[in-house]
Amino acid sequence: MKTNRLFVAAVALIFAFTLGCKKESSNINPGDAAHSKASTRSSTTLDPVTQRKLAALYAKIPVDARRKVGGKSKVKLELHPEYRDIILKTLKLEESSCNDNTASSQWLDQQLADWNSTIINYVLTTAMLDLPTYDALLFENSSANQKFGAEGQYTQRLTKAFKDLKRFWNIQAENIVLAPMHGTMLTDRAKLLRTYKAAFGLDDPSANYYADFVLAIVDAYPQLRGGNHPMFSFNAFAQSTFSFPPYGVIPDKIIMGDGIMDAFAATGYADVAPQAILAHEFGHHIQFDLNLFGNASGPEATRRTELMADAYAAYYLSHARGASMQWKRVQLFLNVFFNIGDCSFTSDGHHGTPTQRMAAARWGYDVANKAQKQGHILTAQEFTRQFEAQLPKLINQ
Ligand SMILES: [Zn+2]
Repeated sequence: MKTNRLFVAAVALIFAFTLGCKKESSNINPGDAAHSKASTRSSTTLDPVTQRKLAALYAKIPVDARRKVGGKSKVKLELHPEYRDIILKTLKLEESSCNDNTASSQWLDQQLADWNSTIINYVLTTAMLDLPTYDALLFENSSANQKFGAEGQYTQRLTKAFKDLKRFWNIQAENIVLAPMHGTMLTDRAKLLRTYKAAFGLDDPSANYYADFVLAIVDAYPQLRGGNHPMFSFNAFAQSTFSFPPYGVIPDKIIMGDGIMDAFAATGYADVAPQAILAHEFGHHIQFDLNLFGNASGPEATRRTELMADAYAAYYLSHARGASMQWKRVQLFLNVFFNIGDCSFTSDGHHGTPTQRMAAARWGYDVANKAQKQGHILTAQEFTRQFEAQLPKLINQ
């Protein structure tokens, strides 16, 4: 199955935070929106020594790159040409557009309120928003001894749900890695170096320079919360194994970012969001395993696989032999799915509208709840068959 080719339709809940409606196929920079929203805010005063230090580091960046940062363009740093396609296909960052007003996106906006234009400039120049994602994508390759959430507050729930999911679904799941994404990698010089080298193809001197710059920025600005700002880890995704020479084989994995879970926790979904998001990501591994992505691409194909993942998740979460959630909690997780729907219909990353996502999740719940034999778990194949038959109705919401 997953032989010599990277499976491309890997990304799931990538919350690149309101990139706007225009899809850029190479867009790896979720900071543009933050830039436009926060750049008018007043700057923060640093002590003169730090100010000079950062300015000196910044001055080393070629003028061309700095000019780009101020405009619409992307950061100077570009992905390693050899791996660029692999990384972008695997991490197809997606925008949301019509649901800017959901509680979680509003919450994130509030968290960004004290990022002034100088901070944003530095963050974009160093590609800091992408570093935790790429580090997790390439180097978090084991489930062992992982902690989820900055304080480990999601560890127990996710570890248990992951174990349950592997038991619940009849797919080959023993090799899937469950690993976190922590923004605090931005304070870890070794991790910064390896990520700059592997993902961006930087040589030693450049990687050292950028790593030092990032360490200095995080140190200078308390607004970045020592890397724990949710903007750096507002992300969760599933990925199928691929070869990444010379680093080796990257395993099947699910990455859960602290920031995305914090956003749902802060807006009333602490009880269900981590499990719901994980169950959705696990749904993508069902799709990998059953080879359900096919050759189709474009918004409709993405919508199908996303709504299917929602339905798998809802089925597991509500099933008596799954997470066995009662109606009150089920409504909460339905709201989680409702919250993350998007309306960018023409985007390749289209996940389905909030209404369609809610309908898919609701349908998955009904399949579990209305079953004659409550203890019976449908095979992934059978559940998928039923879903495909239902899909036209779900879309027609
Ligand atoms: Zn997904």
